[in-house]
Amino acid sequence: MLITIAILALVVIAEPSLPPAGIAQVGVTCPVCHHSFEAFAIEETNQAAGVDRDLFARAIGPQPEFYRVSTCPDCLYSGYLSDFADDAVVPPFVVEQVQQAGHLTRPPGFTPDSGPRDIDASTRYALAIQCYEWRQASDEALAWLHLRASWVVRDMAAVVPRDDRLDRVIHFAQRWRPTGTPDRNPAEDELTMVTAAAVAAAEGRFTRFQEPFVRFFIAMLLRRHGENRHAATRLEALAQDPLLPEPLCAAATRMTDSIEAEQRHQRQALSHFERALLAEEIAPANRAAAAYLAAELCRRLGREREAMRWFDGALADESLPAELRRWANEQRTAIARPEPQ
Ligand SMILES: [Zn+2]
Repeated sequence: MLITIAILALVVIAEPSLPPAGIAQVGVTCPVCHHSFEAFAIEETNQAAGVDRDLFARAIGPQPEFYRVSTCPDCLYSGYLSDFADDAVVPPFVVEQVQQAGHLTRPPGFTPDSGPRDIDASTRYALAIQCYEWRQASDEALAWLHLRASWVVRDMAAVVPRDDRLDRVIHFAQRWRPTGTPDRNPAEDELTMVTAAAVAAAEGRFTRFQEPFVRFFIAMLLRRHGENRHAATRLEALAQDPLLPEPLCAAATRMTDSIEAEQRHQRQALSHFERALLAEEIAPANRAAAAYLAAELCRRLGREREAMRWFDGALADESLPAELRRWANEQRTAIARPEPQ
């Protein structure tokens, strides 16, 4: 049985046939081919499972980010729900591109009669990105599509098979979960637990049979939060660890492979954010947050000097929200510090 590691609570993934809570389906008409189909509509969302510092907000239950884009099962035109609104207009040259045979790749088994859940979120985002490029959408819009697509890749990678020994480590690790204020960010708390687990492992507090599962726990949390520069080498070693059961080695390999897919979207998101910022195409109210995101994407991609420059730019903007200001200051300090081993 596959489990997600959402807030370490070992949540069983919902059966694909069940409608996810908080996600509705509404009838729309495709502005390209006029086919009527069911698109996703997000009814309610929450960020109770925490917010990563590139603003990926996780809900408890289905992730809203997975359902922001829908695909017309007839012509494969894809976009946000607003792109399928009654007054949505698609220029004729875009209609032509979409309808040209072979321009959009039909996923296997997805037919004009398929439901919205018969095509996975990564594929819907890839199709939406292609349609937005044909529509010559703004760099800001393309940046956000790529950023969201990177979150989908990240969250799909955070799936591990159930294992009793790993479960025991997860339960043991709860002692390191910070407590106190009610408005804690579980994403931050999980990274705090990573640090505590790494310290305990370095102090030799585990037997040689427990130790690989502790290392797996550390690597999977780093991967779950997209701290891929710290996750990658750990996961590569775990994939070959003779003391780990084979399904966990295979999960480590999958998590490693997904890093490149996430980074491809991050590189695209970064380059579109940079272009939009440099061309001053972003509305003043959103500029500081976009500069912050450019900085954070640089940091995640290992481009630290550029990260520092964008963090400085974001911090110099008085409209930067307080939470992002705190994160920007902390990330700057962390970059300036030598890396933890
Ligand atoms: Zn269509």
